[in-house]
Amino acid sequence: MAYTIKSNCIECGKCEKACPKGAIYPGCGKYEVIKRRCIDCGRCKAVCPVGAPEPKK
Ligand code: SF4
Ligand code: SF4
Repeated sequence: MAYTIKSNCIECGKCEKACPKGAIYPGCGKYEVIKRRCIDCGRCKAVCPVGAPEPKK
């Protein structure tokens, strides 16, 4: 499993700073997760002001 970032992302960058694996990067219109790096720690979801990161199978 890995987290993904939904389209309601407002590009604040908090998740990128919080991710311990460097798995998040600014994409086009929203931030993105590099799935093979994600360890499902949930920190991105914890810091996101709009609840955009979600665990996905
Ligand atoms: S769940 Fe953890 S490892 Fe995965 S993208 Fe979010 S902060 Fe990074
Ligand atoms: S913390 Fe949430 S709103 Fe901010 S860049 Fe990450 S996913 Fe987008």
